[in-house]
Amino acid sequence: AIVGSKSYSIASIPADGIGPEVIDAAIEVLNSLAKTLGTFELNFTHYDWSSETYKKTGKYIPDGGLEQLRKHDAILFGAVGAPDVPDHISLWGLRLAICQPFQQYANVRPTKVFRGTQSPLRNCKTGDLDWVIVRENSEGEYAGQGGRSHVGKPWEIATEVAMFTRHAVERIMRFAFETAQSRPRKLLTVVTKSNAQRNGMVLWDEIAAEVARDFPDVTQDKMLVDAMTCRMVLQPESLDTIVATNLHADILSDLAAALAGSIGIAPTSNLDPTRQNPSMFEPIHGSAFDITGKGVANPVATFWTSAEMLAWLGEKDASLKLLDSVERVCERGVVTADLGGTAKTVDVTRAVIEDITGSY
Ligand code: ATP
Ligand code: MG
Repeated sequence: AIVGSKSYSIASIPADGIGPEVIDAAIEVLNSLAKTLGTFELNFTHYDWSSETYKKTGKYIPDGGLEQLRKHDAILFGAVGAPDVPDHISLWGLRLAICQPFQQYANVRPTKVFRGTQSPLRNCKTGDLDWVIVRENSEGEYAGQGGRSHVGKPWEIATEVAMFTRHAVERIMRFAFETAQSRPRKLLTVVTKSNAQRNGMVLWDEIAAEVARDFPDVTQDKMLVDAMTCRMVLQPESLDTIVATNLHADILSDLAAALAGSIGIAPTSNLDPTRQNPSMFEPIHGSAFDITGKGVANPVATFWTSAEMLAWLGEKDASLKLLDSVERVCERGVVTADLGGTAKTVDVTRAVIEDITGSY
C-alpha cells in the first residue's frame, strides 16, 4: 500500500445485461483516479451473481454470500433483470436481498442537467434542474405485505398493503432534512398523497412537521404526488431536495432522470446512514438487453454513482474531481446515443480517463 493513503475494499456486482459493461468502465475510471491522486486505493472483489447463476442454481446469492459482502466498505452494483426471469424474482432475488438485510433505508437519487447535455424541457438550462430525491427504501408500498386468494377465479382478490412505521418514516425524514440542510438552498419538499390516503400518508405529514422543528434553517414545502409531477415539469427550478415514499419516489426519480436528459446518466445510492452495513451504489437504469453487447451503453450513470460512493467513503475531493471530469467530457460532446451523440462506451470512458490524468 502507498504510505499515508487510505485503502477501501469494494465489492462489485455487475450482474446482468449492460451491467458488466458499465461496471468495467467505472472500475477503469476509478482505478485511474486513485492512481492519479495517490491519496487512496480501491481494492475490488468481483461477485458474479446474476440471472445466469439464478437460472443454473436457483439462487442469485449463494449461501454465505451476504456475510462475504458485509466485509466490504461499499458495493458497486450494475443492473439486474433478464428477459426470461420475471422482474419481481430478479429484483427481490438480488437487489432487495441486499438492500433489506443491510438496512439501506435511504435511497438517494441526485439529478441535474449536466453541462453539455440538454433537458427535453424547453428553456431548462444547466443549474435550473438540480435535485436530490430521497426515497424511503425499506417499507411502504414495497414492503411485500399482501397476498392473493381465489387465484384464477373471476372473483380473485389480490392485496398489496402499504406499510408505514413511525420508526422508518422518522429516520428517512431526518435523513432528508439533513440532506436538505447540507445543500445551499436548504429546501425540502415532502411529497405524499395524504388527501386520498388517510393513514400512512397522514403519518408522513405529522412526522415531517415534528422533524422540521429540529431543522429551523430548512424550509419545508409540501406537495401531493400528482401535483408534484406537474411542478417538476413546469417549475423545475423551484425544487431542490425531495423526500417521498418507496413507490412515489421510484416514479418521480424516473421522471427526474428523463427531465435531466437521459436515464443513462442517473445514479442511485442505497445508504445505511448508521454505517453498520456497507452501502450500495448503482446506476438507476436496468439491464437494458436491447443494447447489451453493442458497446453503446452510457457509462455516465455508473461514473456518477462511483463519485457518490467516493463521497460516502469520505473521499470528497476525488468525488468532485470525477464528476467534474465527466461533465467536461459531456461538454466536449463525447456522449453516447441516448444523449444524442455517437460515442461508444469505450470512447466516453477513455475521454474521462484522459481528463482525469490530464492527458487530454
Ligand atoms: P429493468 O427492467 O431492470 O428496468 P430494462 O431492460 O427495462 O431494465 P431500463 O434500464 O429500464 O431497461 O431502460 C429502458 C431503456 O433505456 C433501455 O431499453 C435502453 O434502451 C435505455 N437505456 C437504459 N440504460 C441505458 C444506458 N446506460 N445507456 C443507454 N441507454 C440506456
Ligand atoms: Mg425498466
